[in-house]
Amino acid sequence: MKKILITRKLLRTCEDKAKETFEANFNLNDELYSQKKLIELSAGQDGILSSLTDKLDSDTIKKLPDTIKIISNFAVGFGNIDLEAAKNRGIAVTNTPDVLTDATAEIGVLLILGACRRAAEGIDSAKEGGWKWSADYLIGKQLTGARLGILGMGRIGQKIAKVAKSLGMVIHYHNRSKLSADKEDGATYHDNLKDLLSVSDVLSVCCPASKETVDMINKDTIEYLPKGAVVTNVARGDIIEDEALIDALNRRKVYAVGLDVYKNEPNLNPGYLKHKSAFILPHLGSATKETRTAMANLAIDNIDEFFKTGNCKNKVNR
Ligand code: NAP
Repeated sequence: MKKILITRKLLRTCEDKAKETFEANFNLNDELYSQKKLIELSAGQDGILSSLTDKLDSDTIKKLPDTIKIISNFAVGFGNIDLEAAKNRGIAVTNTPDVLTDATAEIGVLLILGACRRAAEGIDSAKEGGWKWSADYLIGKQLTGARLGILGMGRIGQKIAKVAKSLGMVIHYHNRSKLSADKEDGATYHDNLKDLLSVSDVLSVCCPASKETVDMINKDTIEYLPKGAVVTNVARGDIIEDEALIDALNRRKVYAVGLDVYKNEPNLNPGYLKHKSAFILPHLGSATKETRTAMANLAIDNIDEFFKTGNCKNKVNR
């Protein structure tokens, strides 16, 4: 049986499956391993089932023992792993696509609704009590007829588009490549980010974190948004330059934000906390029982497939 280091706790049924599939080395206290500890614990292991909280940068990967052949990430995103460094060491990296699309899109839609309809302020007022209904009390932005700009119209972006369309939003998107007509489903393609931003009453960031996308939403690009736009991010915090977005909130260039992900999680930029209109969640995208189970099972299957066949359909460092 292959020996696998599982860096974070999984749901019990998934840990049972892992035990049946390989000799699993569990993290019983669910502690966050330092890079040093992760390298130490990898001694004698054949693979690592990692999570997005593990920073497998180039330096860490260089120091992993030669026995490690696969890093199976418990996420669809893999911005926490240096793919090139893994490739150079002959280590396969895999992810868990598809199974988390629906759950994450649900949170993506919640961010849009929460930010546009001032849910954060509404919840605070309802809990405080003493609020008084009036015709202009907590007036928000209606989604019907508003233009939704999707940056990264992949699996999650397309699902958000489908729900948003049913709410009457008009869909625009930017990818590096245009989608086929059936995947576009009536959405308008923009071949560059600035054109997309200029028509985005509401922006939904859904692209992966990569060298290309880090700080894509920054001081300069934010200026292309219409005044009073709403910015939401269900993808990764690295894509947004926080200081620039907070400054845009301060000067009301941006009306509200809806965020599930942050740079330096869980230590989000305190500037967001000063804004009542910030609808913020603690990285809940895939957090449903069904989805977390499916993700862990797929991460286990990816390892199994890799050792049985020498390859894996979800390998991301080709
Ligand atoms: P996907 O199907 O691969 O879609 C990614 C989309 O982004 C593609 O349409 C891609 O199109 C576009 N894209 C990639 N690089 C781009 C660039 N430089 N400029 C513009 N567009 C670019 O991925 P997915 O399954 O939808 O997941 C998207 C991301 O969501 C993941 O990478 C992950 O970070 C995040 N996520 C977050 C949570 C959460 O808990 N909040 C949960 C799951 C996933 P082109 O290749 O044509 O450019």
